[in-house]
Amino acid sequence: MQSKIAHAAERKAFSVVLDKIIASASGEDREKNIDHLIDMAEKLLKDTSPGAIRGLRKGLRPGSKWEKFLFSVIDETDPHVLKTAILNGGYEAAFRGLRNTTANADKYQCNVPWIILFDPTSACNKHCVGCWAADYGNRLNLTYDEMDSLVSQAEDLGTHLFMLTGGEPLVRKEDVLKLAEKHNTSLFNIFTNASLVDDAFCERVQKLGNIVFSVSLESYEPSVNDGRRGDGSFQEVMDAFDRMHKYGLLYGTSTCYTRANTERVSSDEFFKLLIEKGCRYAWYFHYMPVGEGANADLMPTVEQREYMFNRIRWVRSVGDEGYPIFAMDFQNDGEFVGGCIAGGRVYCHVNARGDVEPCVFIHYSNANFKESGNWLECLHQPIFQAYRAHYPWNDNLLEPCPMLENSGLLTQIVDEADAKCTEYVTPESAADVCARTKPYAEAWAPKAEELWLNMYPDGKKHYEDAMSQEKISVKAKVIAEEDAQNEAVVD
Ligand code: SF4
Repeated sequence: MQSKIAHAAERKAFSVVLDKIIASASGEDREKNIDHLIDMAEKLLKDTSPGAIRGLRKGLRPGSKWEKFLFSVIDETDPHVLKTAILNGGYEAAFRGLRNTTANADKYQCNVPWIILFDPTSACNKHCVGCWAADYGNRLNLTYDEMDSLVSQAEDLGTHLFMLTGGEPLVRKEDVLKLAEKHNTSLFNIFTNASLVDDAFCERVQKLGNIVFSVSLESYEPSVNDGRRGDGSFQEVMDAFDRMHKYGLLYGTSTCYTRANTERVSSDEFFKLLIEKGCRYAWYFHYMPVGEGANADLMPTVEQREYMFNRIRWVRSVGDEGYPIFAMDFQNDGEFVGGCIAGGRVYCHVNARGDVEPCVFIHYSNANFKESGNWLECLHQPIFQAYRAHYPWNDNLLEPCPMLENSGLLTQIVDEADAKCTEYVTPESAADVCARTKPYAEAWAPKAEELWLNMYPDGKKHYEDAMSQEKISVKAKVIAEEDAQNEAVVD
């Protein structure tokens, strides 16, 4: 593990280089300075996403859509926000965080996530059709001290990227701001309905610089969006986008695609609206039939999932087609993160009751942070160790999920770990959930195989770097050697 002195020196060095790069990419002849920017990104992403660098070099051609995207991010984002987001999200989380969590995973023999999702509250100020949150109200909350303790302990293990979900996290606006202010080397991504984003809040976020937003949006048509989310919700989101843009903040959208809306939420009209409103990214989440009101009939059809697979890759392509927005599909993009990221391998979720769950969609656990107070102890819980023992369960990373596409595996993991259901409203067994997803898994399997073999004829994902396929122990050894060399330079 890197010492505090070496870490501070390295962060400072990144900060200085970043200042120069942002300045040169803002001035005249900035096209010529793009190469420096890519060189820096290469250093930051070499462990997490080496393939992205090849994409960056190809995508950032003079006059390309991605070059225009980059320049608009630089021109329209507040300089402090931009620098802090890159330093905390790029350097601390993606680069240093990945190295430290890998070293600690080997040291403590458990998964150590480099992203943590947590719910400050179960409360929400909206009453969306089909959502339990408003009815559940503010009965469940992580106190400020609990969130502070979670983030502090996680940072000590190397985690510097936190995503706040809920409920509506901004119901706890003051605590969220206090947390971001204290933990100023971490990046906080808030998943929000945006209705509580006002000028005063934006001004404070601008000063902090380490908060970005993923805003829920379900249509480019106000009536469709408001049909589920309530009258006036669409306009509230548009107003919030304008406000966040005025203060130079970074934001995108979060959208669940279902059998009822897949084409609409990935339409040209939808992307054009997001780009016009200054969104930089668009998260897509495949509908998961879990929890209160779960409805297997809302899962996308095989044709719709294939459409999303092709559509999202087309939207963010490095060629001239597509749109200048970074679109991501949590389910179909599994191949870029080695498949399922849950159980602390890359991320995990803490709900507002303190239950530490493998994934925001997997509601089983043996550990509660409120009761334990010890994050490392929570990471050692049996269900995380079962995930660790079973991973990887599939060569085809278009079938990443132990619940959705590998129906039955979740039951095995939950049974082995003797994990308890953490559903707030209606507890259900993993076997019942898997029974619901089984027909989907069987229908998707042949198409997943066809798509996968088209990309990887021998059925295996091939990584460009030497590290991705190595065991944690090998990666940790390489990281320790590199850090020792860097320490010697600092001395
Ligand atoms: S458990 Fe399923 S939804 Fe969650 S990260 Fe793994 S593959 Fe994705």
